[in-house]
Amino acid sequence: MLDRNLMKTAAVIVAAGRGLRAKSGSDGPKQFAPIGVETVLAKSIAAFEAHEEVSIIQPVIHAEDRNRYDAAVPRHDRIAAPVAGGKTRQESVYAGLAALAKADVARVLIHDAARPFVDQQTISDVLNAVEPGICALPAFPQADTLKRVDGDGYVVETIPRQNLYCAQTPQGFRFDEIFAAHEMLRKSGRNDCSDDAQVAELAGLRVRVVPSPAANVKLTTAGDLQSARASAGASAPDIRTGNGYDVHILVPGDGMMLCGVKIPFDRRLEGHSDADVGLHALTDALLGALALDDIGAHFPPGDEQWRGAASDRFLRHAADLVAGAGGLITNLDVTLLCETPKLAPYRQAMRAKIAGIAGVEVERVSVKATTSEGLGFVGRSEGIAAIATATILVRPRPSSKGE
Ligand code: MG
Repeated sequence: MLDRNLMKTAAVIVAAGRGLRAKSGSDGPKQFAPIGVETVLAKSIAAFEAHEEVSIIQPVIHAEDRNRYDAAVPRHDRIAAPVAGGKTRQESVYAGLAALAKADVARVLIHDAARPFVDQQTISDVLNAVEPGICALPAFPQADTLKRVDGDGYVVETIPRQNLYCAQTPQGFRFDEIFAAHEMLRKSGRNDCSDDAQVAELAGLRVRVVPSPAANVKLTTAGDLQSARASAGASAPDIRTGNGYDVHILVPGDGMMLCGVKIPFDRRLEGHSDADVGLHALTDALLGALALDDIGAHFPPGDEQWRGAASDRFLRHAADLVAGAGGLITNLDVTLLCETPKLAPYRQAMRAKIAGIAGVEVERVSVKATTSEGLGFVGRSEGIAAIATATILVRPRPSSKGE
């Protein structure tokens, strides 16, 4: 008998379905819907990529989904170019097997992309159960009582659940055996098998059940996707970024506020508040990350109470909104566009001030300054501009709707 480690093993990932039951909307078919930081399909492929015995992964997709596939799945040596599936699941699996026909594969796992939570142990257990003439089917005992119902929704029969199992994937086979079984069925004109264990059964192969966890769930409905997102959200970060831009005019005066620091200068910045462009841009960046309008909507310029106001309160307000949304500020970066005076001497004080107002560590705050080489309003010292970026982490809210 061949050493298992010398047996080349492939995984066919079936992702050609239209997934109409899940109605994932703009995400398209459910295998391309995101859960956590990746799509259902990418997560399924990653499970096989992580398994040391799998040397080729053969995705099968719908011909119309090539762009979606390219955007969703990272390139990797072990992932073969996807092939187009057929009209039924059985035809799609055949297309994947046919693509592997010349790859000298000894064993093949056939997996539905819609089961992204398959674990490494299940993959190992399935592979270990495959022998000549014997296929492996991961399954778990049926726990709920089964009822057969008539067309009007009335129970007509209770089916004893003893010895009943719920079939999952990946199902494992000797490549030559399952490829021959599929070819046999094709020649007979049958193309409606809902899994490959059935193809094997019809070809006279024996199918051995391997206990598998119920967590290896198939995402079928919109509700399945939602709960998968909720559980993925517990570990995957929801990272959001916002930008902000502001300009204020320079007029004769006795110094200006920039990023909360008083800069001695023979001019000042004109504005309704203290006209601190740096803090205004940072405030808009945080509001942008939260998708909560802009600084003008929160603090209308015509409102008397903001006349001459220190801009600390604007940034503090935005930081409070982040906290209120269950968020955490992970980065604040602002670039000041200013011809004179030189701002470098104030940079550390500005960073410390911003960190204090926003309630973050100073290591997460960046202040940069640049001139515009004499060009434009900045170059003519008519005003100062600021550009800011904020990054926040938002705690997932599984129950939230309409997002
Ligand atoms: Mg402003």
